Amino acid sequence: AEWPTEGAIRVENLVLRYADGPPPVIRGISFEVRPREKVGIVGRTGAGKSTLVLALLRIIEASGGRIVVDGRDIAQMGVGDLRARMTIIPQDPVLFTGTIRNNLDPFAAHSDDELWLALRRAHLLGDDEPSDGGGGGTGAGRTISGLDMAVAENGSNFSQGQRQLIALARALVKRTRVLILDEATASVDFGTDAKIQTTIRREFAGSTLLCIAHRLRTVIDYDRVLVLDQGSVVEYDTPLNL
Ligand code: ATP
Ligand code: MG
Repeated sequence: AEWPTEGAIRVENLVLRYADGPPPVIRGISFEVRPREKVGIVGRTGAGKSTLVLALLRIIEASGGRIVVDGRDIAQMGVGDLRARMTIIPQDPVLFTGTIRNNLDPFAAHSDDELWLALRRAHLLGDDEPSDGGGGGTGAGRTISGLDMAVAENGSNFSQGQRQLIALARALVKRTRVLILDEATASVDFGTDAKIQTTIRREFAGSTLLCIAHRLRTVIDYDRVLVLDQGSVVEYDTPLNL
């Protein structure tokens, strides 16, 4: 199998800063995530949670320290390769202008059946669908009408929560060994969060999962919870011990 086969993540003395802000946002943190471990990341707004997970895909480059995944320093990899092999569902996902199909499968590598299945599992076809294999049904809560449904510039015809569900469907098609989820802000409805959690726990049981959550109860059944405060790790323990 191809890297990453295990999904072990080691963060060493990581420092992250934005160009226009002299004090670092992440201030030399270290922690490890075991293969297939489910880790929640919590902390107040501005703590640096999103910044930290963006560094895993080098959307933000480290100014100090390093991140090692299954023995490879990600700074030594090609960025395209890295991003093809790990998945992030960002806090505010960007969609491509075009169709649902090319958003789910930009390289046209998957069958229609796979794409429909991902949409269903991401709760984008409504929850009272008959399992007819196709797209049929007019279930309540249905967001996506079909694979050729238009996606407007920046996905502006969808809400933030719906864009996260589409990013989840994309993740279900891609199926990488490491999945990072940056939950939409607490203003997104609890139902959407709960649907995402149920699906990722079922479909990504064999993957390493990092999930930024805004409610502690979202990650109460996770293996460990990392608490960030002002760019430092203040706790990293099982939810029970916190
Ligand atoms: P939230 O819970 O609100 O999503 P967060 O923990 O994800 O918060 P970050 O988005 O990582 O926090 O932001 C951490 C710090 O970095 C904040 O002080 C923020 O103002 C700053 N920051 C975030 N993005 C940028 C940026 N693009 N340019 C400069 N500073 C930024
Ligand atoms: Mg954030």
